[in-house]
Amino acid sequence: MTRKVKALGIMGGTFDPIHYGHLVTAEGARCTFGLSQVLFVPSGRPPHKEGAQVTDAEHRYMMTVLATLTNPYFEVSRTEIDRVGVSYTIDTLRILREQYGPDVELFFITGADAIFDIVSWKDSSRCLEMAHFVAATRPGFSLEHLPEATRQWVAGHKERFHILQVPAMAISSTEIRERVREGVSIRYLVPEPVEHYIRRQGLYKQTLPPSQENSAN
Ligand code: NAP
Repeated sequence: MTRKVKALGIMGGTFDPIHYGHLVTAEGARCTFGLSQVLFVPSGRPPHKEGAQVTDAEHRYMMTVLATLTNPYFEVSRTEIDRVGVSYTIDTLRILREQYGPDVELFFITGADAIFDIVSWKDSSRCLEMAHFVAATRPGFSLEHLPEATRQWVAGHKERFHILQVPAMAISSTEIRERVREGVSIRYLVPEPVEHYIRRQGLYKQTLPPSQENSAN
């Protein structure tokens, strides 16, 4: 749905599955940057996960919808899921810029770990011209942890690059998948409807080879 907004948060992620860490991040970004809406954009085919085991996009989309239903500021976009080919952030930003108009400020929100190699993203400098970048960090993370090339890149774009400390980011999708596989409770780590969805659809039961599991994060 297109709504007149002044500042739009774009929450980019694989969301395999979505958890409270993501939701707290989005709400934190909304409050910190005065966003009128946060649009969750589940990745279709993430460029850095070609060949990796990622749960079917429709399941990830459904879980994202279920998780965000009760927050009137949150919406979910199918733009990457419905797009053919690899999901590059620059393409998403261009589409949303067109959809929301030239006056809306865009804030791309994602995990700090996800932007480790942002210098290698397609049109990474153009991405920053089009949107602010908000990197959500787990406790203990600092800019020092970024590779040298990324640190330099960040230093050159200080006014459009923001770090958001989110204690709840200690929760991770990888851990949730492992817990489900091992039959350990995920209650209070994901919203209840997501927990039910995972159980009813039988997601994350399959054991993957360790190499695939790492690359699927
Ligand atoms: P990822 O590699 O699966 O995640 C790396 C880390 O960031 C994980 O710890 C992850 O935690 C966390 N994370 C991911 N999304 C998050 C979010 N929205 N809020 C807070 N933490 C988050 O990263 P990804 O999900 O595939 O990619 C993140 C975004 O960057 C996506 O929108 C993707 O399309 C974009 N991206 C674009 C390019 C490109 O255009 N070339 C390349 C890489 C990534 P969890 O595992 O708990 O989520």
